[in-house]
Amino acid sequence: MSLFSPRGRLVRATVAALATCTATTLAVLPVAARTPDAGAPAASAPAPQGPAARTTRQLGSAADPAAAQSAADYLPVSYTCNSGLRIKAQQMTTAQLQTTCSSLIGQDAFFHDIVKDGGRPVAYDVNTSLEVVVFGSRAEYQRLAGYLYGANTGSGGEYQEGNPSATGNQARFVTYRDDSVQAFTIKNLNHEYTHYLDGRYDMYGDWNANISTPTLWWIEGLAEYVSYGYLGKWNSWAGGEASKQTYALSTLFDTTQQHDQNRIYAWGYLAVYYMLEQHPADVTKILGYYRTGQWQAARTYLKQTIGTRYDAGFRAWLLT
Ligand SMILES: [Zn+2]
Repeated sequence: MSLFSPRGRLVRATVAALATCTATTLAVLPVAARTPDAGAPAASAPAPQGPAARTTRQLGSAADPAAAQSAADYLPVSYTCNSGLRIKAQQMTTAQLQTTCSSLIGQDAFFHDIVKDGGRPVAYDVNTSLEVVVFGSRAEYQRLAGYLYGANTGSGGEYQEGNPSATGNQARFVTYRDDSVQAFTIKNLNHEYTHYLDGRYDMYGDWNANISTPTLWWIEGLAEYVSYGYLGKWNSWAGGEASKQTYALSTLFDTTQQHDQNRIYAWGYLAVYYMLEQHPADVTKILGYYRTGQWQAARTYLKQTIGTRYDAGFRAWLLT
């Protein structure tokens, strides 16, 4: 299937800096899982308004009563889509809530069909429910998402898996109404939802385990692939990058959070697209390792079994 076919994707996501969040996450919050995403021009984000300690202390924790109180104060809208999905928002109409629920619920089958998980979560994953937090604007997200949820407010949304094996854990993503477009749009909605599904059905353990080897090509590439595919949007960003033939596939398998947004998102998308389309048996093999936490085995498979074997094919495919 051609990259430029109607099956293709998107509009260019706006770009933001991710650089600072990783170190904070890994150093300060060992069990917190977070996947901050490209969002916006880097930001004149105001500092969080609350006590500084709260920004990091309670990330991903639903157990902090003070935080819960604050969240309820700031996010008066609470809407249950179904037993596994709840939306909290500053301001959404019933129609907007229902449309959002439908968009997310409809994505499940699309996702399962692509990754072929048989509907089986990975072992010890108790993230049966997801909370979707929607701030009313980018400015509100910048003002409150760090304070309430420890999110990187330079991002365009962030998935916080928490500890998926802990009873009472609450998986959550935080995002905002994209007020740069007129129609009601939630920033990165289906991208973030893919992180939830991928974390539950493909990636064993928490975020820190997931990125203990370079897996970002898959994590962000899949989120882009599923999001644009499901929405039927053309990925003009990735399409534009493809013609430049910048990276070898074997190089993309090394992508980490230290790399730039083009490489992480656009090239992750291209790598995942190519592998799913041209080498599905290899994807099955790799996901078999990811799903059981065999990160080094997956790494060996990518870098040695596949190695540079598909580089020429990928390079040619980019121009198809
Ligand atoms: Zn993402």
